[in-house]
Amino acid sequence: MTLARIGVLALQGDFAEHIHALTELGAETREVRLPKDLESLDGLIIPGGESTTIRRLLDLYGLAQPITDMASQGLPVWGTCAGMILMARHLPDDRPQPLGLMDVDVARNAFGRQVDSFEADINVPAFGTEVFKAVFIRAPAFVRLGDTVEVVARLDDGQIVAARQAGLFATSFHPELTKDKRFHSYFLDIVRDHEKEGQGGLNADIANVTVPSSAAS
Ligand code: GLN
Repeated sequence: MTLARIGVLALQGDFAEHIHALTELGAETREVRLPKDLESLDGLIIPGGESTTIRRLLDLYGLAQPITDMASQGLPVWGTCAGMILMARHLPDDRPQPLGLMDVDVARNAFGRQVDSFEADINVPAFGTEVFKAVFIRAPAFVRLGDTVEVVARLDDGQIVAARQAGLFATSFHPELTKDKRFHSYFLDIVRDHEKEGQGGLNADIANVTVPSSAAS
């Protein structure tokens, strides 16, 4: 099988760490800064960083609509932290205007100011009994999951911190900041499953979404 070619949105944030993890797993990677960088990708990661800045730059470089079109045509997309915020359908906050790729609503900075960042062991049934040490930095939380969205990981108190809808995957923490690459392998498996599905891919039944302009935000 050919190597998966994974694009990592490289406008702002910790894209380099994602590229490093993917490279160690043997995937081909490409930094995405312009629409032409999206050509013939097998998957895309939207990294952590500052979601309002990333959204502004997505508009500036004309990337918001092509990414939304490709996701609705089946491209697997994984958003971590700020990336998860951008994947949401709706936020309680006014800014940023999310891309609406995945049928979830997400609240920013949802773990309170006093806990800007923390590490926690999370339970991931897909990984068996060995917990994953997750790093949370001003992390967002899921406040609504659509009917076709599956829970992938939870904190001990039951809070959902990773979820998946077909080829669309979102984590409120930063797996790229730890050595444990199981979430990157998990995303590469999603990409492989998508290739097997062929035409339409995993996201085929997710309706086309038109990206609302963020001009007002
Ligand atoms: N709170 C940040 C935001 O709203 C996300 C934090 C992160 O990606 N570490 O963009």
